[in-house]
Amino acid sequence: MSHTSSLGINAFMAELKAKNPAEPEFHQAVHEVVESLDEFLDENPKYKHARILERIVEPERIIMFRVPWINDKGEMCVNRGYRIEMNSAIGPYKGGLRFHPTVNLGILKFLAFEQVFKNSLTTLPMGGGKGGSDFDPKGKSDNEVMRFCQSFMTELYRHIGPNTDVPAGDIGVGGREIGFLYGQFKRIKNEFTGVLTGKGLNYGGSLIRPEATGYGNVYFAQEMLKTRNETFKNKTVLISGSGNVAQFSVEKVNDLGGKVVTLSDSNGYIFDPDGIDGDKLKYVMYLKNVKRGRIKEYAEKFGVKYVENERPWKEKGEIALPSATQNEINEIEAITLVQNGCYCVSEGANMPSTPEAIHTFIEKGILFGPGKAANAGGVAVSGLEMTQNSMRLNWTREEVDNRLQIIMQNIHHTCSEYGKKDSGFINYVDGANIGGFVKVADAMLSQGA
Ligand code: GLU
Repeated sequence: MSHTSSLGINAFMAELKAKNPAEPEFHQAVHEVVESLDEFLDENPKYKHARILERIVEPERIIMFRVPWINDKGEMCVNRGYRIEMNSAIGPYKGGLRFHPTVNLGILKFLAFEQVFKNSLTTLPMGGGKGGSDFDPKGKSDNEVMRFCQSFMTELYRHIGPNTDVPAGDIGVGGREIGFLYGQFKRIKNEFTGVLTGKGLNYGGSLIRPEATGYGNVYFAQEMLKTRNETFKNKTVLISGSGNVAQFSVEKVNDLGGKVVTLSDSNGYIFDPDGIDGDKLKYVMYLKNVKRGRIKEYAEKFGVKYVENERPWKEKGEIALPSATQNEINEIEAITLVQNGCYCVSEGANMPSTPEAIHTFIEKGILFGPGKAANAGGVAVSGLEMTQNSMRLNWTREEVDNRLQIIMQNIHHTCSEYGKKDSGFINYVDGANIGGFVKVADAMLSQGA
């Protein structure tokens, strides 16, 4: 594959696309990184000579497997399972499992690629990986989900281990699924280890792990706001999604005196001008985690606006925390957000902004925290769960939360170090991409791998 240079980006991308056809999300994620690195690689020829970029886009290993399971009607169903072991230069492969009908190889490669940079930014020794299945847990009974998870692990177990590859949750994989997966791993291997993170508290899980991605994103946004002498106090905040990341983002924004007015799911969004306070948040948590219902029911219960098939970005707010899924803010939505007074966007989800939306945010000079930096709190606390498992002890809530805050501050610091422009503006996209790259690339150079 050709070396990059200002002229070389196109050639590099053309070759990547030819080698990895029909994977638009993977191309998008790589393109963003290659753009950020272009100048840096010119200034640091050792990475070019060793062809680090060409190597880093190639997964170390891809595992694809059949997942047969029996539904409640006694019928045989078949899904496809995946694990992408992307990069182990700085530690065991680490990253979540996503169960969603949209899952395919290209989506997981984009997520695994981002995870390499994200995990590097956390300062913890974790390589990057991602996995999952096109299985849709929506509408499935607990027993169906259990049988699926057991079948999935019956193949996956031979590829993972506490020092090899440590999966966790992502969209569609929460505490329930991790529990079933862990139970099956233990049954097959007859060993109790830290092979998965996001475990239940009474069998090796860490305090603050469920909260970590949402809290971490708010901590990161707090650091960005500080650079402009701002805080969350009395700010109106738009959040998309209504799962784990969104829920704990609401909790933390409320703690800091902000007001969250929106949440969403794949059918639409709610707008609650009075703010989603603690009691209302409890209802959201019950609705999503226990009842497994839709966000529309919130609007029905509290008599607020519900907008079907739309995303919340037309509403007014100073801060936006996209926390649903990839490509959920397009260019027009980005322009609308900024026109409506939004000056801080921090990504709780992975790659929620399209390249055009990111371009808009940066051109307008607003604070923009890309997911690989801003949502790294989840995997960071997964790393802390691994540490506690190895030490056979549990840290207190305060201990884990303090470490999380320090990690998010460090990530912010790294992004500023590598992303600060002569004008003083911090381009967090460049900062995260270069900062995440350097550690992994140096380790690859040292290992000759
Ligand atoms: N799925 C989360 C992420 O995108 C967490 C991964 C983990 O904890 O390993 O970073």
